Amino acid sequence: MAELEGLEFGKSDFVLLDEVSMEQFMENLKLRFEKGRIYTYIGEVVVSVNPYRQMDMYGKDSIEAYRGRELYENPPHLYAVSDAAYKAMKRRAKDTCIVISGESGAGKTEASKYIMQYIAAITNPSQRAEVESVKNVLLKSNCVLEAFGNAKTNRNDNSSRFGKYMDINFNFNGDPTGGHINNYLLEKSRVVQQQEGERNFHSFYQVRALKFTPVILETQTHLLLIEIKAVFSRHHFIQIRNELKLAVMNALQVIGFSKEEINSIYQILASILLLGNVQFESDGESVQILQLEAVNHISDLTATDPESISKSLLYRTVATGGGEVIEKGHTEQDAYLGFIQTNGALYERLFGWIVGRINSVIEVKNYNPVLHGKNTVIGVLDIYGFEIFDNNSFEQFCINYCNEKLQQLFIELILRQEQDEYQREGITWQEIDYFNNQIIVDLVEQPHKGIISILDEACLTAGKVTDMVCLDSMDTKLAQHPHYTSRKLCPTDKTMDFKKHFRIRHYAGDVTYSVEGFLDKNKDLLFQDFKRLMYNRFSSSPFLKEMWPDGQLSITEVTKRPLTAATLFKNSIVALVDKLACKEPYYVRCIKPNEMKSPVLFDDARCQHQVAYLGLLENVMVRRAGFAYRQPYARFLQRYKMTCEYTWPNHLMASDREAVEAIITQHGFQDDVAYGQTKLFVRTPRSLFTLEQERAAL
Ligand code: ATP
Ligand code: MG
Repeated sequence: MAELEGLEFGKSDFVLLDEVSMEQFMENLKLRFEKGRIYTYIGEVVVSVNPYRQMDMYGKDSIEAYRGRELYENPPHLYAVSDAAYKAMKRRAKDTCIVISGESGAGKTEASKYIMQYIAAITNPSQRAEVESVKNVLLKSNCVLEAFGNAKTNRNDNSSRFGKYMDINFNFNGDPTGGHINNYLLEKSRVVQQQEGERNFHSFYQVRALKFTPVILETQTHLLLIEIKAVFSRHHFIQIRNELKLAVMNALQVIGFSKEEINSIYQILASILLLGNVQFESDGESVQILQLEAVNHISDLTATDPESISKSLLYRTVATGGGEVIEKGHTEQDAYLGFIQTNGALYERLFGWIVGRINSVIEVKNYNPVLHGKNTVIGVLDIYGFEIFDNNSFEQFCINYCNEKLQQLFIELILRQEQDEYQREGITWQEIDYFNNQIIVDLVEQPHKGIISILDEACLTAGKVTDMVCLDSMDTKLAQHPHYTSRKLCPTDKTMDFKKHFRIRHYAGDVTYSVEGFLDKNKDLLFQDFKRLMYNRFSSSPFLKEMWPDGQLSITEVTKRPLTAATLFKNSIVALVDKLACKEPYYVRCIKPNEMKSPVLFDDARCQHQVAYLGLLENVMVRRAGFAYRQPYARFLQRYKMTCEYTWPNHLMASDREAVEAIITQHGFQDDVAYGQTKLFVRTPRSLFTLEQERAAL
């Protein structure tokens, strides 16, 4: 900690600032970043600043230094919270979770990997083969998920384009027995379109590299992939390193994907790439596909007749009121819409299927709680942070709603947990004033009145409800809401056409959303014919059936409307929050120091903005108002008895509690502590540092 590291490195816990002000907070954060101290605590929360360089702090020695130790015994580190979460899980049989948040490029995914690496390193000391194999699969799953779910963006060369929550299960020995991954809102629009300077998902670039591993692929697929290179050459592709491609293939094999499954994955990727070259043309009467060659390729690749493929792109089957089934040709616009959705959906379902397949390998099998004791869990959440872009659309709306929910959970858990514990231990506690963002959560999700309900209503209304009509409805219904600004009141900005916008005052700042495309994205229509094609016709791959179960329904059976994208997302986030809420939480708050990926630049304004919207200052206040550290009397005594004449060499007091009181009084720390039923509560880590130092000096 500060004193353990030396004062020139600043305060290692923001709770120790002389005064809680933004100025002091930023000064300390900057000083530590410049001195290469990328982690700082707020109590048990780790604030991490992306160093943008390799740090010499993740090796075996570091792991050993943190293993089984308390937070304040070592300089701040992800390993220390990982250990705290692990100890809580193992010693107290508590389910715990580590929530990692921060904006794109702030270092969330790297942090999640260090946490997993630490947990893998400290478990299974006896090297039991089955546990090693579980650990191996858990670690390898990261590699596969990154290949299929990450892409180069302008903000991060390896940006996760999905949210990830991973549960790791442990047996009573504290060894991993399995896990489960949930993925959230994959950015499927990237399959078809990327912004200037950005790329598609990494996996597509790996298809191109498959000539290095023909052994695994069937010859037919392999030859076609070579042909596809011609298609590739029209795009601007950047070569990626060979080791990476091979690592993914190796990871797929280690996880247990069969040769057929790997073939199918790459067939689908290749089909998406081929499909990407299709264009449509209308002669005024009907619409045709211009690149029949691409359709023929897909047909070869998937052993499906080319007519079925063309038909699914050009027509839809509809049931008339009289129960008759007719085929209706798409307009050119519908054909393009269908085409964009088809590409996105193919990839999204492939991704979901891969996650499901990994889950089937890592799920805990044959666990009998009676025989094996309670099965405990550590969850790790690596999810997109709050987003404010120049142009904010439906995706940002969903992501920012998710962040509101997580902030709500943060407030609830941190405060509720504190209050519960104080009450249990009989400590008086003063309520602290904080902004409760429930009002914004309600604005988005409240049944009938919230934005999601209004969107859904517009999607369900028969006839053509446009984005603008929906915006009218929102403006009317939400005009009085203190966190909603209708388009009439949105401030004018020459660069934006505010007629199509609404604004939400989020806890992290104001975001202006463009309503354009909201309804289409929310409906997420995918013509049923395409689903049926996937389910029934792509006979070369039995796995496609698994990806498209809804393709089983015949046209007359499809009467129920599927849930909208916003509602599905809301449901998944509500389920996630429920999962997290019953666990003991640990937080890692990541900060991106600059936009240039520079290891030396600390952009004050950018950093301050992040500190503000992550609510870190409020967090320090809550921590200071309460007691940041607490320890059972016996453990405290055990560690510091040698620093007091009444407890060392002989314990002269009647009880552990009295002995602890003697230590505290002798050092003059009375004002910094409170005595609970079973634990000592310490307000700031200052007293603990002094005791640690004295102990070390003996
Ligand atoms: P996104 O939301 O876009 O997925 P992220 O928060 O997950 O972003 P990362 O991919 O974890 O960001 O980090 C971005 C890059 O920053 C990494 O590829 C790596 O180069 C660098 N980086 C992050 N954390 C560290 C670290 N602890 N040590 C060294 N480099 C790091
Ligand atoms: Mg990431």
